[in-house]
Amino acid sequence: MLATNLSSPLTALSGVGPALAKTLSKLGLQHVEDLLFLLPLRYEDRSKLVKLGALNAGTRCLVEGEVLLAEVAFRGRRNLLVRLGDGSGQITLRYFYFSRQQQSQFAVGTRVSAFGDIRTGAAGLEMVHPEYRILKADQKAAQSDTLTPVYPMTEGIQQGRLRNLAAQAIRLMQATPPKELLPDEVREKLSMPLLTEALTYLHQPPTDADIRSLSAGQHPCQKRLAFEELLAHYLSLSNLRLRARKDDADALTKGGDVARKFVAELPFALTSAQQRVVEEILSDIKLPHPMMRLVQGDVGSGKTIVAAIACLHAIESGVQAAVMAPTELLAEQHYRNFSDWFTALGCAPVWLSGSQRAAAKRRALQSIRSGEARLAVGTHALFQDGVEFKKLGLVVIDEQHRFGVHQRMALREKGALADRHPHQLVMTATPIPRTLAMAAYADLDVSIIDELPPGRKPVQTVVLPDDRRGDVVARVRDACLAGRQAYWVCPLIEESELLDFQAAEASFDMLKTALPELRVGLIHGRMKSAEKEKVMRAFTAGELSVLVATTVIEVGVDVANASLMIIENAERMGLSQLHQLRGRVGRGDAQSNCVLLYKKPLGQLAKSRLAVLRDSNDGFVVAQRDLELRGPGEMLGTKQTGLPEYRVADLARDAELMPQVQMTAEKLRRVAAESVPAIIRRWTGDRGRYGKV
Ligand code: ADP
Ligand code: MG
Repeated sequence: MLATNLSSPLTALSGVGPALAKTLSKLGLQHVEDLLFLLPLRYEDRSKLVKLGALNAGTRCLVEGEVLLAEVAFRGRRNLLVRLGDGSGQITLRYFYFSRQQQSQFAVGTRVSAFGDIRTGAAGLEMVHPEYRILKADQKAAQSDTLTPVYPMTEGIQQGRLRNLAAQAIRLMQATPPKELLPDEVREKLSMPLLTEALTYLHQPPTDADIRSLSAGQHPCQKRLAFEELLAHYLSLSNLRLRARKDDADALTKGGDVARKFVAELPFALTSAQQRVVEEILSDIKLPHPMMRLVQGDVGSGKTIVAAIACLHAIESGVQAAVMAPTELLAEQHYRNFSDWFTALGCAPVWLSGSQRAAAKRRALQSIRSGEARLAVGTHALFQDGVEFKKLGLVVIDEQHRFGVHQRMALREKGALADRHPHQLVMTATPIPRTLAMAAYADLDVSIIDELPPGRKPVQTVVLPDDRRGDVVARVRDACLAGRQAYWVCPLIEESELLDFQAAEASFDMLKTALPELRVGLIHGRMKSAEKEKVMRAFTAGELSVLVATTVIEVGVDVANASLMIIENAERMGLSQLHQLRGRVGRGDAQSNCVLLYKKPLGQLAKSRLAVLRDSNDGFVVAQRDLELRGPGEMLGTKQTGLPEYRVADLARDAELMPQVQMTAEKLRRVAAESVPAIIRRWTGDRGRYGKV
C-alpha cells in the first residue's frame, strides 16, 4: 500500500471516516493537499497563561485557577457560575447551557483552565461560555507553542478537529514537500518565502507572529499564496489568448478608403484617444489571427464611432460584420445610427432581434446567409441557432461589462466558420480598475479611450432627500421650458419587473399632473419593443420633454439635448450603475445636472457612496471606489463573468499584485514553461479553469 501523502484522499488521515470525508467534500476538500489551502481566518494566542490579577476586559486569554465556588443562579434564566481564583485575582465563568454532569465537574478545589473573551460582568470580570478543561493534580493548562488557527466556519466540523487534520496535513507536507513551482529567481526578486514555508507559517504561526498583518491578509506568507493563485488563474486565462493567436482569421487588409471618407465627413474630429484605439484595432485585424480586444471608455467617450470604423474595414475587406448589444433599446439605437451612417456608403445594415415579426426575421436571416447583408445589428438573437453568416469576419459586442469569459468563448465558436474565427471587439463603459481588468480580462487585449470629446462640461451632481421632490420637479420644469430635456429614473426594484413598472407608472402620473405644460413619456422593461422604440424616437426627436424610465435606459442611450437626470432611490443602486445613468446627460454643450434622490434615513456607508458620485465624474475613480465598497464579485458580477471564487486571494485586497503576476507569467513562459501547467493544475484543478491546461 502506498504511504499517505498529499494526494491521498482525506480518509487516509487518522480520524476521518466516510461521514466526515463527505462533509469535507461539500466544502471542496477532497485530498490531503486541499487542507493546506484552507487557510485560517484568524488566530488566537493560547501561548501565554495570564494571571487572573492581570486580566483586562476586552481581551481573549488563557487562564487557570482553582474553583472557589460553583452555583446555579436564577437571574431571569438559569446560570451556572463558577468562581476561579489563583491567588492574584478572581474571575467568574458563566454558562447558560450546561448539563448536570458539567455542573458536578466544578467541585470546589478543582483546577480548571479556560480560554475566552474577558468582559466586565455584574460581579467583576467574567467569561461567558469559555472553552475549559478540568486539570488533573499536577497538570498544567495546555499552552500552545504556536498561535492557534481558527478556520473558516464549517458546519458540522469542530475547530479542534480541523486543527488536528490541518496539523496532520502539515506533517505530511514536511515529509514529502510539494514541488516549489516559482523559480528561485522570481521568488527572490519578489522577496517571497517558499511555498512550504508559507503554508507552515500560516497554519502554525510562531507566538511572536504579527497578528495584525495576518488578520489584514497582508503577511508576506499570505501574499505568497495569493500571488501563486492569481498567477495560476492568469496563466489559465491567458492560455486562451495564446491559443486564439494560433487560430486562423481573415486578415482584413483591403481598402480603408470608405472608412477614411466616413471619418472625413463626420461633423467632428476623432479625439486622439479614439484615433489611437482605432489604430490598435486596425493593426490587430490585419493579422490572420482573430483579434480579441476589449475597448474600455467612460460613458460618452465615443465608442460607437470606433466600432463603426472597424466595421467599415471589415466590410471593405469583403467579410460580414455583426454588432450586438445587450438590450433591444440599445441595439435599436445602434441600428438607427449605423443606418444613418452606412446607407449612404452603400451598406445598409439588417436588423435582427428576438421580438421581430417572423416575416421580417426570415428576410434578415436570408440576407445574412446569402452574404447580401454586410452588416447585421441586433441583440443576442444574432448568435442563436438558425443564424448562419456567409462569411462573418468581425463581431462587435457593446456594453458587455457583464459578459463572462465563457460567453466570449461561446460567441467565438459560434461565429467560427470552417476553422476561421471572426475578430472580436468587446466594448464596455464600466471602467474597471486596471489591476482588476488584468485578472478578469487576461484573455483579451485592452484598449482604453481615456479622453472625452472636447467641450463636454462635467455633470454637476447633487444629493437630496426625496422630501425635496417638489423643488426637483420645479427644476425639471425650468430646464424643459428652456428647451432642454430631462430623464426621471425610477427606483430599481430587484428582480421584479412588475414592481419596477408600478413605481415608474406612479412617478409618471405624478409628473404629468405636476407638469401639465410639458409632454411626459414613459418607458419601462415591460413594454413591447415597438412601443419602446416609439417612445425613444419621440424623446430623441424632442417631442417629449421628460422621459420617465426604469433602468432600461442604463446603457448607451444617446440624446444630446437632455441635460437633466433625476434618479430616485439612488441609495439602492450600485455606483457604477449610477455613473452609467448619469452618463446619459452631459452629452451636449449645455451644462448638465444630475439629482440623486434618496429616502431618509440614509446610513453612513450609503452617504459616503453617494458622495463619491457627487465629487467625481471620472468613471475610473467611481469604479475604484465601487470596488473598495462592494468588492469585485458584485462589481463584475462574478457569476456572469466566470471569475473564479479564489481560495486564498481576494481581488479587492490583492489586485495590486496583478502587474507582477503578469510579468511573472510572461517570464515563466520563457524560462520555465514546464511549470505553467503544474501551477494551473495546483490551483484550478485537473482541467484548468478554462479548458485544457
Ligand atoms: P459611448 O462611448 O458612451 O458609447 P457614444 O459612442 O454613444 O458614446 O458617443 C457619445 C456621443 O458623442 C455621440 O453623440 C457621438 O456622436 C459623439 N461623439 C463621438 N465621438 C466624438 C468626437 N470625437 N467629438 C465629438 N463628439 C463625438
Ligand atoms: Mg455606447
